[in-house]
Amino acid sequence: FLEIDHLVKRFGSTEVLKGIDISVDEGAFLVLVGPSGCGKSTLLSMIAGLDTITSGEVRIGGRRVNELHPSKRDIAMVFQSYALYPNMTVAENIAFGLEMRGVAKSEREAAVARVSEMLQIGHLLKRKPSQLSGGQRQRVAMGRALVRDPQVFLFDEPLSNLDAKLRVDMRTEIKRLHERMGTTIVYVTHDQIEAMTLATQIAVLRDGVLQQFGTPAEIYNNPVNVFVADFMGSPS
Ligand code: ATP
Ligand code: MG
Repeated sequence: FLEIDHLVKRFGSTEVLKGIDISVDEGAFLVLVGPSGCGKSTLLSMIAGLDTITSGEVRIGGRRVNELHPSKRDIAMVFQSYALYPNMTVAENIAFGLEMRGVAKSEREAAVARVSEMLQIGHLLKRKPSQLSGGQRQRVAMGRALVRDPQVFLFDEPLSNLDAKLRVDMRTEIKRLHERMGTTIVYVTHDQIEAMTLATQIAVLRDGVLQQFGTPAEIYNNPVNVFVADFMGSPS
């Protein structure tokens, strides 16, 4: 369903993705892990069709993402630098995508109520982004993606600013959401436990090269090299 073939991305003369091959079925929860700078965010933006591909291709449901007009791409993304609309309230930020799609007001309000309860931000709906903490902003950005019902969700470290308790709560919510909706998810995290609990498949990247791709159990129990073993905290 999501197919990444020999994907190469260069910025100038620097090769950031060096020929990535990954393929997952519809409904997969693919987690990308790897050290800072290894190319995780770059890979997400290639999947979202937000930047040009140097060579190779990405297909979703058989269609090449870079051939589809942005408005036709049925993808919701939460960026690492979750930019919110500063002049809109939290509720308006969350509902904006639905409004653009012509969803009726009562339905928008119901959707905002549903996700804000799940994200524990119901008490913040009337505030502006500048009046929120980093973790609260991150949850609003997440809410903006979750009100939609896209073909694919892309998440770039969506829980990185949250305290430990909220991280665990949100992880549970995301897992539940995935089980309920069955939407294909690509999720970037630095957190091995998050990767192990959420993923149906894990891709381990290092310096733009895919080190290993497999189920959490395969990666953890049979790491292909020392790098993967160290990174996943496998028993030695
Ligand atoms: P982190 O975990 O820190 O978010 P990452 O794995 O998401 O890291 P990327 O943001 O994908 O890493 O960056 C991969 C490499 O590409 C880095 O070396 C980065 O400096 C470089 N890079 C990213 N975007 C650009 C750009 N627009 N122009 C030039 N180099 C870039
Ligand atoms: Mg990144």
